[in-house]
Amino acid sequence: MTSPFIDLGLSPALAKVLTGLGYEEPTPIQSQSIPPLLAGHDLLGQAATGTGKTAAFALPLLQRVLAAHSTAPGPEALVLVPTRELAIQVAEALHRYGHALGALTLPIYGGAPFARQVQALKRGVHVVVATPGRALDHLRRGTLSLAGVQTVVLDEADEMLDMGFAEDIELILEAAPAERQTALFSATLPPRIAAIADKHLRAPVRVQIAREKPAGGAQPRVRQTAYVVQRAHKVAALGRVLDLEAPSLAIVFARTRTEVDEVAEKLRGRGFAVEALHGGLSQDQRDRVMKRVRGGGKAGKSGIGSDPGSVDLLVATDVAARGLD
Ligand code: AMP
Repeated sequence: MTSPFIDLGLSPALAKVLTGLGYEEPTPIQSQSIPPLLAGHDLLGQAATGTGKTAAFALPLLQRVLAAHSTAPGPEALVLVPTRELAIQVAEALHRYGHALGALTLPIYGGAPFARQVQALKRGVHVVVATPGRALDHLRRGTLSLAGVQTVVLDEADEMLDMGFAEDIELILEAAPAERQTALFSATLPPRIAAIADKHLRAPVRVQIAREKPAGGAQPRVRQTAYVVQRAHKVAALGRVLDLEAPSLAIVFARTRTEVDEVAEKLRGRGFAVEALHGGLSQDQRDRVMKRVRGGGKAGKSGIGSDPGSVDLLVATDVAARGLD
């Protein structure tokens, strides 16, 4: 089995999970963070949500946890996050990547009853994803032990500081073994974050994913517009935009193969002639799709009347669409 994820040092088993999820290629933060994290280095990562940052720390963490045979009580990895929502989201990601391989993940956050969290901790988990306040509560009650923790991740560190968790984070890090790996991710790196990094990270590898900027002075040649809509309304909103813009041909990007297929199917349901392009197609299938997109396939079933091309929309992953002219 070949996979760009194996090339980064991830196990074939994890790479297979990712293929199953429709991930075709690592994102930049993943390419840059996974190898040093697998090698055991500390890491200081500047990256915002949406860059694939969760998998960047979750995958190496899972690989280490699954290889470890710790006999100490408590989890082998601790991920601290600012909010309950993020705790759930990150725990879901860890579950998605790791459960088939036997990794147990537990989110613990405030507002939820202690009893269930305590029971789950007692049964034993590999990874705890926690908000700092609730993690500290468990430490104080003796229901969470950090004695076996080998990896600590501080996710969205700037948000955690903004929410007043600085002191809690200090106390938690002091309760974790000194011999451990620490990774800190933050969208911004103000001095307060730099100070935490100085104190708690050892010779960290630095990774920075900058937002793309157009070249100096150049006018972007593509008009860019962002519409903020609820997830549930996304496809309907996209349909309206396409109706208004009425492009003769448009490319819709989705992140994974599964999403490409879903979006393509939903847009077909709205009456568009849609082709889907992703890495799961054979070269032959891709060639046929591109022929229809270029307008060479007028005989195609989806052709409408006298349209020059038979396709309104191409839905693709960015990887599959690379090199299209
Ligand atoms: P994050 O920045 O961690 O919140 O991730 C944003 C989204 O990207 C999540 O829905 C992930 O499932 C997805 N994702 C992460 N890595 C990849 C990848 N290599 N290929 C496709 N999708 C990804």
